[in-house]
Amino acid sequence: MPTYEFRCSSCGPFDAVFTMRDVPDATACRCGAAAPRGVTAPLLGRGGSTAMGLLDATKATADRPAVVSAPSPRTGRGAPSDPRHARLPHP
Ligand SMILES: [Zn+2]
Repeated sequence: MPTYEFRCSSCGPFDAVFTMRDVPDATACRCGAAAPRGVTAPLLGRGGSTAMGLLDATKATADRPAVVSAPSPRTGRGAPSDPRHARLPHP
């Protein structure tokens, strides 16, 4: 179910989960006051999921690409990536 943001005039914004069909225009805050729903897009994904983490990482690298100054020493040219490769016959 999506998460919606509500704004209490004294406590500030808070999130509540409703179905898209049953989301009210206002709900009761923990202080008892009526809090109107904020104008935001419903948060459909769960924040801690693997898919959300991947999306966040993709957005971060789009703005700030991870640039390296040298190839990794383990995968560089000439260095065997697997020590068993050194025992293979060479031409
Ligand atoms: Zn409140």
